[in-house]
Amino acid sequence: MSFILFIPLAWLVLVAGLLLWYRRELLALWREPVLKHPVLIIESDDWGAGPVEPQAQALNRLVDLLTQFKDCTGRHPVMTLAIVLAVPDGPAIRATGRYHRITLEHPMFAPVLAAIERGRKAGVFALQLHGLEHYWPPALMAAEDPAVRAWLESDPPATTERLPAHLQSRWTDASVLPSRPLSAEEIARAVHEEVELFERVFGERPRVAVPPTFVWNEAVEAAWAREGIDVVVTPGLRSACRNAQGLPDCDAGPLHNGQRLSDMTYVVRDDYFEPQRGHTAERALHALQRKWAQGRPCLLELHRSNFLAGAETADRTYEEIDVLFRQALTRWPQLRFVTTAELLDRYAQREGALVETLIRRCAVAWRCRVSALRRFWRLARFSGLSLLIGPACARARTE
Ligand SMILES: [Zn+2]
Repeated sequence: MSFILFIPLAWLVLVAGLLLWYRRELLALWREPVLKHPVLIIESDDWGAGPVEPQAQALNRLVDLLTQFKDCTGRHPVMTLAIVLAVPDGPAIRATGRYHRITLEHPMFAPVLAAIERGRKAGVFALQLHGLEHYWPPALMAAEDPAVRAWLESDPPATTERLPAHLQSRWTDASVLPSRPLSAEEIARAVHEEVELFERVFGERPRVAVPPTFVWNEAVEAAWAREGIDVVVTPGLRSACRNAQGLPDCDAGPLHNGQRLSDMTYVVRDDYFEPQRGHTAERALHALQRKWAQGRPCLLELHRSNFLAGAETADRTYEEIDVLFRQALTRWPQLRFVTTAELLDRYAQREGALVETLIRRCAVAWRCRVSALRRFWRLARFSGLSLLIGPACARARTE
């Protein structure tokens, strides 16, 4: 073979090999639905059981703030609330040495429930299931840390955020590290119990689950499916355990928006908007710009703790939310507000008003997604494959 022929042939083999090696990921990115308009959802976790007055005040103030904004269809911004349904009953645990809980059915939580209901009626809150507790009670009872014991026995309502991070996982036994898996029967019983309670408290069954600390496994998904839950919020992978250092591990993924496995559909939440940690509205707007360029929704994670960490942090959080929506609606007049469950329904139906059907536009979004795969894109640029795919995603789509 002549040298002139060898070079293009070798290049073709190299490029084909690269495509073959990454085929699963490239195809998954192609199958992921592409949005026709930018979508922004604030996903807020840990609401419900816990400090009463601070939560009720925060939720009411959020209703006042969010109802000031509307998208071009007349819809208010949606903040999903991942609900925790119970905290420990400290005095009962002290008296009996066994675990007891106080649930949202207790009259003490009436102001929190009233504020949640106000937001639901106004169309700014959508409820999702976080867990009956933000921990696995037997794991907490077995923990040897005296601070954990004192927390369990304190007067209610306790603040779950004060627990060590690894013990805030519900779907693994982290009383020892690495954590131990729970049995499928234990999980099924617990999921049934929490879905029933959720329905009693809020008059509807949850459809979307947000696993506490993003640690869960297939057995949990199977139990959710049996109780009618069909959407799981993920950070883009599934961690099934806590490792020896107490960090989430035993990962499976990557997971993509709209990806369906057995009876569950995944949605990805991997942008963070925690003013408590110095995150600003500008940072969130960059995330929205990047996600829109990729044809993806921007789900921003914002924990309850931002509103309970003192007046100064809470005030800054309201201000940043205000700037975020003001700026987002100015920069993207076609911005849409929907709930996470509605978004997944539109995905499933490939609903034309929100989900792109034009191949050419899907290809532009795919290129943006592909160029965000760091290792692949480095190799694509090195090999020249990127010239065939097209330029990297440098600018956001405009409408
Ligand atoms: Zn949480």
